[in-house]
Amino acid sequence: MYHASRTGSIEVIAGVMFSGKSEELIRRVRRALIARRRVQAFKSHLDDRYGGITRISSHTGVEIEAGPVDTSAAIFRLVRPDTEVVAIDEAQFLDPGIVAVATSLAERGVRVLLAGTDTDFRGEPFGRMGELMAIAEQVEKLQAICVVCGDVACRNQRLINGRPARWDSPTIMVGGSETYEARCRRCHRVPRQDEDQTRIL
Ligand code: ADP
Ligand code: ZN
Repeated sequence: MYHASRTGSIEVIAGVMFSGKSEELIRRVRRALIARRRVQAFKSHLDDRYGGITRISSHTGVEIEAGPVDTSAAIFRLVRPDTEVVAIDEAQFLDPGIVAVATSLAERGVRVLLAGTDTDFRGEPFGRMGELMAIAEQVEKLQAICVVCGDVACRNQRLINGRPARWDSPTIMVGGSETYEARCRRCHRVPRQDEDQTRIL
């Protein structure tokens, strides 16, 4: 059993896309490296994997290397006994086991940093983000800027072929182009099936 000299903790960086979560995660990792802590970074997204290494990158272009993982068990397996800080990006995509993994890492003295989108395109809780926010010592909830009105944005607007995606639209798109925008609550649109598309656009 590894005995860490420090008390572990869980920190969550939550918010919509473009709110600066990756920027903030990278900032905390950089500071941990300056403090000479042993850091391991992971990203639960497999799309941009290449050569066993992926990158945590912010929309401003700053990036750090991260191990690509598709399960919380993989993170647990890959964390080395002497690692002091574990940073995880895109935590919303991870399976429910991430809650137990974050907890046991923190219990053995690891500082666990988790960044993720806490609401999906419907504005509903995403993956285990809500639970992670509840068990964390510290939560930072960030907002973006609404691209429609310039107010602060708390929602992810999903667009399929340039139009607001319907409530029941498929999670995985086959054909067609899909994009996301940051929007405020008032400008956020999630048409229901029975609504007239032209009226709500
Ligand atoms: P996240 O990880 O939350 O998606 P990033 O850290 O990757 O966010 O990117 C945040 C950066 O994106 C901001 O600092 C800003 O330069 C840029 N950005 C682009 N669009 C927006 C927007 N609508 N609102 C806020 N920032 C935006
Ligand atoms: Zn708005």
